[in-house]
Amino acid sequence: MEWRRWACLASVVALLVAWSGAEASATIAKATTAASPTALLIRAERINTAHDARFAELLRQLHQKDARLTPAQRLHLALLDALQYSLQGDDTKATSLLRKVIKHSDNPSLSARAVAQLMQIDFLNRRYEKAYKLANTLVSNLPNISEPVARLSALNQMVQLMNRVGQYDLALKYARQIQRSFPSPSGQCAGSLDVTQSLLYAGKLTSASPRFRKTIDVCLAAHLVISANALRLDLASLLTDEGHMDRSIALLDKIAPSIRKSGYKFHMASLPITYAQAYVKQGNDAAASKSALAALSMFAPGKTNWIVEDAYKVLYQVDKRAGQYAQALAYYEKYVAQAQASADDTRMRSLAYQLVKQEVLANKMQLDALHKKNQILKLRQRLAEKAVETSRLYITLILAALILIMLWLLKIKHSQLRFRRQARHDGLTGVFNRQHFLHAAKQTLGKLHHSGRCACLLMLDLDHFKRVNDSHGHAAGDEVLKQAVATCQAQLRTEDVLGRLGGEEFGILIPGCSPTQGLDIANRMRDALAAMKVKLVSDSVVMVSASFGLACSERSGHDFDRLFGDADAALYRAKECGRDRVVTACDDEAFTARDDASNETRASEPARP
Ligand code: GH3
Ligand code: MG
Ligand code: MG
Repeated sequence: MEWRRWACLASVVALLVAWSGAEASATIAKATTAASPTALLIRAERINTAHDARFAELLRQLHQKDARLTPAQRLHLALLDALQYSLQGDDTKATSLLRKVIKHSDNPSLSARAVAQLMQIDFLNRRYEKAYKLANTLVSNLPNISEPVARLSALNQMVQLMNRVGQYDLALKYARQIQRSFPSPSGQCAGSLDVTQSLLYAGKLTSASPRFRKTIDVCLAAHLVISANALRLDLASLLTDEGHMDRSIALLDKIAPSIRKSGYKFHMASLPITYAQAYVKQGNDAAASKSALAALSMFAPGKTNWIVEDAYKVLYQVDKRAGQYAQALAYYEKYVAQAQASADDTRMRSLAYQLVKQEVLANKMQLDALHKKNQILKLRQRLAEKAVETSRLYITLILAALILIMLWLLKIKHSQLRFRRQARHDGLTGVFNRQHFLHAAKQTLGKLHHSGRCACLLMLDLDHFKRVNDSHGHAAGDEVLKQAVATCQAQLRTEDVLGRLGGEEFGILIPGCSPTQGLDIANRMRDALAAMKVKLVSDSVVMVSASFGLACSERSGHDFDRLFGDADAALYRAKECGRDRVVTACDDEAFTARDDASNETRASEPARP
């Protein structure tokens, strides 16, 4: 259906006219100076129709003010220049300017308009693949385009492009978007026109549809005559297809003055060819031939387009009917060549569309794959993080458990130490108990024996201790015991082994101690104990004395039992001899008891090492 194609071109014009709509006039009031670059740009936007000399004049004025233009204004001017070049047919210059705008503008709306314009040029020059790629760019940038004119332009271009490849549903989708988003009269005209045309091309409208009348009225009310004429031409063509040639011709007669007045080239050519089609179908061959030739005259020889194709077809039909076979054959050949070119063109368009669609799909899939990969990476990272987190948690738990275990171990150790101490020490005096004293003393003596060193074993027993208990009580006895031990310890070194053998009897192993030194220590200890005054809570003072038995390794040897026995025997002798004295088993003679008189001897002896 031929009408499907011209309407597309008509819509391009509808768009240009739409730019001069209310949107621009709303902003013009904001311009401060009528002659300022901003004001000039707005005015140029308002009148940038195909045949307006004022548009060219405004552009000239803007170029004169070039030095005063901001970079953004320069790019805006470049866009208008491109439009002017495009209207003049200089697509090369227009293309280079539009590329400049797309490359340098940071205004999404201006860029979108440039893309839309470039897309149209590419399409008209049959660079379909480029055009559909740009269409794709345009669609993805749609959400960023805020300027109504630019949005309208972008959406409108999409409608045209989709219709050209038979994607009527998509075209309708964009068309309805225009209708919804642009309530202004020009926006409503563009949207309504696009919806009606998309439905028409999809074969969903008959000439009886009220949509035609409604859309035409909306566009006329918006003073968008070219848009209204585009649909009127469509309707005329449809009427012919439906067999209503009279009505078609009547409609064309009605709109012809308006089309001629607009001076729009494509409509000027569409008008005669639509007449020709109606006439030829009606059988008015003369009028058909005249109209077809008129349409042909609008184009340079050799030009390929659907109007030329249809003109040759009409001329061929007329000549055939007139029996002008040679002429008919010539027209037929031209018609076939045009039809072939047109078919090729359609194929090329569809192919380009499919190619870009596949490419976009592939890109989308690649993006999806990338996205998925990213998701997996993120998940892995999250898992790793989780693992680290979990490990950290484990480590924390383990550490906490470790600390608890350590604390527990410490507690156990402490208890063990406490138990060990309790097991080894005498609870009252704190010195080794009998059992441990015997063990420790034996061990020490064994070591001393190995190292060839001597030792003394001193055994002491408090005298008449029973009396202390009896006189002052058991607690006082305990206190005396404690202080007696402390007094003895004061005379000892750390390596000396002191233990409570039982009751008020104590044993002391003194390593590295000669008999003389042992005797000396014993006497000092006896003196200290004798001097000790234990003050009780009752304020009474208790004094004690002790008897000592001394045995030496030099005489008794390093056998502990022997040493112990000798010391014990010496102690026994000390008690026997009257107490408060030291009896030594270190001399060769029998046990020697030392009384107070012997203290002088002790004092003159050298100190122990
Ligand atoms: P001797 O001079 O012959 O050693 O006379 P003694 O009274 O010291 O000796 P005896 O063995 O008859 O009495 C020892 C007393 O020591 C008996 C007991 O009451 C007392 N004793 C033993 N162990 C303790 C103790 O841990 N605390 C108190 N307060 N007294 C104790
Ligand atoms: Mg005693
Ligand atoms: Mg005793």
